[in-house]
Amino acid sequence: TTGKPDISREKSAELYAKAQTYFPGGVNSPVRAFKSVYGTPLFIQKGDGSHIWDADGNEFIDFCCSWGPLILGHNNAKVREKVIEVMQNGMSFGAPTALENELAELILKNNKFIEKIRFVSSGTEAVMSAIRLARGYTKRDKILKFEGCYHGHADALLVKAGSGLVTFGETSSAGVPKSVADETIVVALNDKEALAKAFEEFKDQIAAVIIEPVPANNGLLLQEKEYLQYLRDICTQNGTMLIFDEVISGFRVGFEGAAGYYQIKPDIITYGKIIGGGMPVGAYGSSAAIMSNISPEGSVYQAGTLSGNPVAMGAGIAQLSELLRIGFYRDLNNKTEEFVEAIQRFATARNYKFKVFGIGSIFWFAFTDKEYIRKAEDIDASSMEKFKKFHRELLNRGIYLGPSGYEVGFISSAHTKIDLEKTKRAIFDSLDLVFNG
Ligand code: PMP
Repeated sequence: TTGKPDISREKSAELYAKAQTYFPGGVNSPVRAFKSVYGTPLFIQKGDGSHIWDADGNEFIDFCCSWGPLILGHNNAKVREKVIEVMQNGMSFGAPTALENELAELILKNNKFIEKIRFVSSGTEAVMSAIRLARGYTKRDKILKFEGCYHGHADALLVKAGSGLVTFGETSSAGVPKSVADETIVVALNDKEALAKAFEEFKDQIAAVIIEPVPANNGLLLQEKEYLQYLRDICTQNGTMLIFDEVISGFRVGFEGAAGYYQIKPDIITYGKIIGGGMPVGAYGSSAAIMSNISPEGSVYQAGTLSGNPVAMGAGIAQLSELLRIGFYRDLNNKTEEFVEAIQRFATARNYKFKVFGIGSIFWFAFTDKEYIRKAEDIDASSMEKFKKFHRELLNRGIYLGPSGYEVGFISSAHTKIDLEKTKRAIFDSLDLVFNG
């Protein structure tokens, strides 16, 4: 196997140069800047099904899928047509519409873990609101999060672990007040002892524990059901609300997300991404009793000019209707499992230090020989150099992965057998180059 010549990035480079005069770092969200992989970011012009095209006309099979929302692939006809139909009547009213009822009904009738929902416009907003609800409901201030979970960029959650088993968070961004970070406790994933210690140390002070039940923002740090059950139980014993942040896992590992996958009932669930069919949407839900604390019914304030936006609701209705078709998840998950297993077989046969972790239609490529990686500190940062080379080789072979080795990949229902065969060959060649090239 030989390295392929680099794809042309001339137009993308021009656009990026211009973008740098408009936006900090040339982007509107940091990871897009390709800081941890080779070359200038690709400016995408078009997507259709499993494929995307960049400004230079390069074509890729896409495994980023807009970071997860596009479970039906790009430009799905049903979603597009519904959006166009809704738009014929205007795009926003700031008043209730029947579309909100329709999307809520689709979700609530098919999800036994929540009884009422509130739509917002992003995952960050959903999480921020869920935290406020938990604090308002419990009348406590502290929250507990896990190192290696990402929950958007609300102040309270831009906090990382200090040294020690149980720590007050240290801010992971300038501009987050220390007093805010002091209300957030950070512990490692998959560590019952740390959790027990935190509850002991901060008895009757912890309003909520928030976790990605399928941690997928810092590698794919799959947790054992038994650990998640322990977490559920310790929250119940302490009057602490358990928040499942299902912005990625919601409607991804199954229609009922990780709560359904593990059969564990959290107190509040946050959603985003898939729920909006590619439009900006987030949501949070809980029991009717807990949700009654939200304004105007209750005293926890939360609002939004574009919340429940009709166009976004339309996209969500069209997309979720497809997901409810019998066999949708079975087919998607089987396809992913075959893909993951084939790549793992190849890597194992060649003794490469390479693991593919997967759940539902999410996968993560890790340059490691560890059997499992369940906590952030078990990821070897130096392995990211290998990812960088891997990513470049894959782009040169027409395969687009998110531009960081800490990011997971997504498979959509639009990915065909042919796409996945082509991708496997590209991965095999690229791995040969990374390990022997
Ligand atoms: N929670 C999780 C689990 C996420 O993955 C993300 C985004 N990747 C967010 C929250 C924040 O969502 P958004 O980017 O829509 O604000």
